[in-house]
Amino acid sequence: MTDPNPQAPASDFIRDRIRADLEAGRVQQVVTRFPPEPNGYLHIGHAKAITLSFSVAKEFGGRCNLRLDDTNPAAEDQEYVDAIKADVRWLGFEWDAIYYAADYFEQIYAWAEVLVQKGLAYVDDQTAEQIAATRGTLTQPGTPSPCRDRPSPANLDLLRRMKAGEFADGEKVLRAKIDMAHPNLNMRDPVMYRIRHLHHQRTGDAWCIYPMYDWAHGQCDSIEGITHSLCTLEFEHHRPLYDWFCDNIGIYRPQQIEFARLNVEYMLTSKRKLLLLVEGGHVDGWDDPRLPTLRGLRRRGVPPQALVAFCKHVGVAKFNSTHEIGLFEYFVRDWLNKHAARRMAVLDPIQLVIDNWPRGADGQPIVEMVEAQNNPEDPTAGARQVPFSGELLIERDDFMEAPPKDFFRLAPGREVRLRYGYFVTCTGVDKDAAGNLVAVRCSYDPATKGGNAPDGRKVKATIHWVSKVHAIDAEVHLLEHLFTAADPAGADGGDFLKLLNPNSRRVVRGKLEPSLGAATAGDRFQFERLGYFCRDAADGQGAPRFLRTVSLKDSWQKAQQKGGAPKGTGPTGKPAGKKG
Ligand code: ATP
Ligand code: MG
Repeated sequence: MTDPNPQAPASDFIRDRIRADLEAGRVQQVVTRFPPEPNGYLHIGHAKAITLSFSVAKEFGGRCNLRLDDTNPAAEDQEYVDAIKADVRWLGFEWDAIYYAADYFEQIYAWAEVLVQKGLAYVDDQTAEQIAATRGTLTQPGTPSPCRDRPSPANLDLLRRMKAGEFADGEKVLRAKIDMAHPNLNMRDPVMYRIRHLHHQRTGDAWCIYPMYDWAHGQCDSIEGITHSLCTLEFEHHRPLYDWFCDNIGIYRPQQIEFARLNVEYMLTSKRKLLLLVEGGHVDGWDDPRLPTLRGLRRRGVPPQALVAFCKHVGVAKFNSTHEIGLFEYFVRDWLNKHAARRMAVLDPIQLVIDNWPRGADGQPIVEMVEAQNNPEDPTAGARQVPFSGELLIERDDFMEAPPKDFFRLAPGREVRLRYGYFVTCTGVDKDAAGNLVAVRCSYDPATKGGNAPDGRKVKATIHWVSKVHAIDAEVHLLEHLFTAADPAGADGGDFLKLLNPNSRRVVRGKLEPSLGAATAGDRFQFERLGYFCRDAADGQGAPRFLRTVSLKDSWQKAQQKGGAPKGTGPTGKPAGKKG
């Protein structure tokens, strides 16, 4: 496998700007931040923002803060704070400092009084609905509030009483006094504080007014001395307000730079939508391995290194776009190919009996240990001993009684290689009274031990197997896309619940080579010819559970080589190619 883009761009519009700032002496040390709101779990989109902010700081010898943007207690929770910290670390990043927006509430409030005293903010008695209704449109200016010209001292008094808890939720707001006819609607006297008599996970009941995003974010950045405040494109229209607040308070103003959100086919990257899936019981929880949450991806066996490599590869752009899921899977496979230990597993077993295999005094087939390489891509991975015997299990679809021309695997009279074992030739089949196949009968060639014939004769297929008496049971989850449409949020009027894939999880009972019994939660393997699998923390049906991270098929890269668009949309659930 080759990297689709070995030369990741050495520069992009963000790095170019940072470099220019450093060279011109406008910035001494780069300081960035990742500012999640603790109202949900992080997802693959956040991985892009995290990778960008942390990598940029590192590349330029700067610092990156983790800031919990906890300004709205309504939907926030300590549970999310803890998960965010763990997930950022799982990705492999460590913050230089951790801050909480709530710790700046006193300072932010003091600045609100500054704006009131300057005549640049006023208390409005209108309801949220009235304010929304008088904001105007893109073609119509807004209507000034009757409270807009309230004198400063009266505003200051009301603001203090708002803070002291004299008013009910929604009774008053503090608004910036900017321009009700401004072409940018965000500048039409935006709300700065609203009243919310809510308990905050960090500040308790100290506050009953909470700042809006725009009235907190730039100030937090300023306090922390952020030099480059990187955020997604939807904040572009908020930048004039970000700048206005800093400039009018008279504090240091960081530069906000926007980049495109990460969108990936078949994935929802909105906390709100993910919440609907979780709360509606459509998935098992935030760590459901079919979700693009970092928890889900991790549980599924996606290596954090692959996720970061993917985020770096897609880079930063100024236009939103959607990436093919095949590209993401390429990075997952690429890492796992290099690092995952190979093992053998049979997911739809049929017996294979070797009639000329030696039997012991007890009449049972003798057991021989064969040597199997752990990872052909990694010479240091070594080898292991796998028990081989005269009674094996192979995949049902590696055998056909009446094969078509292009089927090269096991069939009556046909010789194939059992991986790491011997050449076997099919001599017949056993069937039950109803005519169902119960066993494939074979003879083996003792001279082919290790998988090569001394006379140099070739076979067209190599198939995997497990020893019947040694194999352990497993519950194996074959995971597919959660949605049937590549753009679940956009298709079908955005009702993504209608697009849930009923076959997104197929549970089978498999048989694994015995060494897999020692796997612990999070261990990743390649089940030869089947895909990459991860040992789940939970068991299923009294057996260890394994989740398929990704199949082996690489439709994305093949399509790139052919110059076409990838057709395959993911795991097929079938064992690999016909030639084995
Ligand atoms: P959501 O829409 O999923 O709730 P959000 O933007 O509200 O996301 P925050 O916790 O506020 O979530 O986001 C923290 C940071 O992550 C922000 O800087 C935001 O721009 C960035 N971010 C969120 N979603 C994406 C995405 N899909 N791609 C890139 N960055 C993202
Ligand atoms: Mg947000």
